[in-house]
Amino acid sequence: HPILGYDVDPRGFRLVVNEAEAVRVRAIFELYLEHESLLPVVQELERRGWVNKRWTTRKGRERGGQPFERTSLYRLLTNVAYIGKVRYKDEVHDGEHPAIVDLAVFQRVQALLQRNGQTRGAPVRNKFGALLKGLLRCVPCGCAMTPSHTTRNGTKRYRYYVCSSAQKRGWDTCPSKSIPAAQIEEFVVGQIKCIGQDQALLREVLAQARKQDAARTGELEAEQRGLEKDLARWHAELRKLSGQLRPGDDNGSIITRLADLQERIGLVEGRMRKVREQIQTVQQQLLDEEETALALSVFDPVWDALTPREQAHVIGLLVERVDYDGASGKVSITFHPTGIKALAQQLADQRRKRSA
Ligand SMILES: [Zn+2]
Repeated sequence: HPILGYDVDPRGFRLVVNEAEAVRVRAIFELYLEHESLLPVVQELERRGWVNKRWTTRKGRERGGQPFERTSLYRLLTNVAYIGKVRYKDEVHDGEHPAIVDLAVFQRVQALLQRNGQTRGAPVRNKFGALLKGLLRCVPCGCAMTPSHTTRNGTKRYRYYVCSSAQKRGWDTCPSKSIPAAQIEEFVVGQIKCIGQDQALLREVLAQARKQDAARTGELEAEQRGLEKDLARWHAELRKLSGQLRPGDDNGSIITRLADLQERIGLVEGRMRKVREQIQTVQQQLLDEEETALALSVFDPVWDALTPREQAHVIGLLVERVDYDGASGKVSITFHPTGIKALAQQLADQRRKRSA
């Protein structure tokens, strides 16, 4: 597939820089460095109307141009083509095309992606004990509520979260204004502690997680079928061309095409192995429902034993967003289904270790 930032030279397979797209690619890398997380970047790209590479096939068909999702954004951010390299099977070689992303920027992005992979997308937050930093939103203003505090004699007196729009545009523009940190944090933690006891919520969360796993498996299987089709077609062509080789003749063009086919077949077979591995990984992630419920039911004592830093990590893992509407006084929590599954898995592992 052609990739954003380059066009394929029609006379060959060489990549030539598409300047307008290259500017966007660099901006996308910068956005990731700014947000340190895939989802906010996906949302920003959607807001800007920036989409994946659009191109026309040789038969004149329009392809690509879909909005970015986490997977396609991840693929873009990890594509070594942007630093002038090519990936062949598991090795990276120098390519013949120019880089369009600064190597240092690319490496910083890889380091962040790796770190966030380890913490499953939850950025390391909470240096100052604000559990809901980056999670709490003011519903009427549609903006973040950021942690703040008053001090007296150099010590923290009172912690609160304040609507960033109210701070900029004045108190009377926002019904939420500010909320005491202890009160809302306690509420959110209370809700989290309930997860293990709330069988209905647990079932819903697990069903969501399974749906995501099934969708991912479906995508991978569709890719697998596409690859199998390509492979069958190329093998057929390979057999046909081999039959056309005549000893003594100049078989130059046939041999060139055969070599090209063999290279393509090698690449596709490599990708198929990867896809099979990924399908297996997703299926292994499917947790036994009972085990999960059991693990989460002991969450309460576990929570109290955590350090504030660990608590913040757990909240980042579990909670996607906390919405506060000052007009109605309503607080609602949106959970990460995958985060709950990840936490349940950690707790289940701890239980197994303890009982072993
Ligand atoms: Zn507000």
